[in-house]
Amino acid sequence: MVTLQDSFGRVATDLRVSLTDRCNLRCSYCMPPEGLDWLPKPDLLTADEIVRLVTVGVERLGITEVRYTGGEPLLRRELVEIVTRTTALRPAPQVSLTTNGIGLARLAAPLAEAGLHRVNVSLDTLDRETFKRLAHRDRLADVLDGLAAADAAGLRPVKVNTVLMRGINDHEAVALLHYCLERGYELRFIEQMPLDAQHGWRRENMVTADEILARLRDSFDLTDDDPVERGSAPAELFLVGGGPARVGVIGSVTRPFCGACDRVRLTADGQIRNCLFATDESDLRAALRSGAGDDEIAERWLAAVQIKKAGHGIDDPAFLQPSRPMSAIGG
Ligand code: SAM
Repeated sequence: MVTLQDSFGRVATDLRVSLTDRCNLRCSYCMPPEGLDWLPKPDLLTADEIVRLVTVGVERLGITEVRYTGGEPLLRRELVEIVTRTTALRPAPQVSLTTNGIGLARLAAPLAEAGLHRVNVSLDTLDRETFKRLAHRDRLADVLDGLAAADAAGLRPVKVNTVLMRGINDHEAVALLHYCLERGYELRFIEQMPLDAQHGWRRENMVTADEILARLRDSFDLTDDDPVERGSAPAELFLVGGGPARVGVIGSVTRPFCGACDRVRLTADGQIRNCLFATDESDLRAALRSGAGDDEIAERWLAAVQIKKAGHGIDDPAFLQPSRPMSAIGG
């Protein structure tokens, strides 16, 4: 099989697919309280178009992992159908979901039945008032219910993503880890990246991986997990209290892992992005809708990955934040 290899020899096997740019939260590191101008419906890929592109990726281009994200993927009405059709592909990919958890209480069981393997649920705080301040919605209870439902449906290990913001929720690192350890969830802290629609990211406000680890080490005994297991995964993993429980830290900014990156992204409107921070995209929707066959789509996709840059360049003085925010790219 042909693989999605770039000019530095990295091979993309992990496809992140945004199912919608819409979200029911307004996390301040992602979008403004009033929301954004959502993509017009005709611009969104249909469920058939998504499945067709994912099929090309899996059957012809060596994609072995498919992660559905957004925006908020649970808002996409055909989600269960899309997951069912993805898990039926051969060779069978690993299929996972990144979600804010709102609605997961209802959807976890049908998704597990559709063959979904895993979920990552975003949870930045355990405090209702902080949640409202950070996400501009009063939905903490729904998120916690969603997490419990994912666990009950067997979507294990349930992973939790947390972004810490200075002066808002950075004092909660230890409490969040206790919460996750008690329930068997695997927690990952993600450094805040310059991907918000408001362009409000400031390096000095970012809570760094070093700071997060220092805070955790005040309360927990952390030891390096086997680095071989990390592979191309973005999280540096640590055993808590000697294991088997683990915690991860994703130092996207201060500890970049671009050299081991195996990801490629498909936006909700059918654009291939070879990096979260890419400034250009390759339009597979136009190809699809003008009647291109699978060979031509595969060729365009290969060409888009081939030109992937060596690194995301956040530390470069000439760094330019991508014009699309995270919600429109698919985190
Ligand atoms: N709505 C879903 C969710 O909340 O998980 C999926 C999309 S969201 C963009 C995916 C992940 O990206 C979430 O864990 C979120 O916290 C993270 N994220 C969003 N903006 C970010 C930023 N500026 N820096 C770091 N992580 C960010």
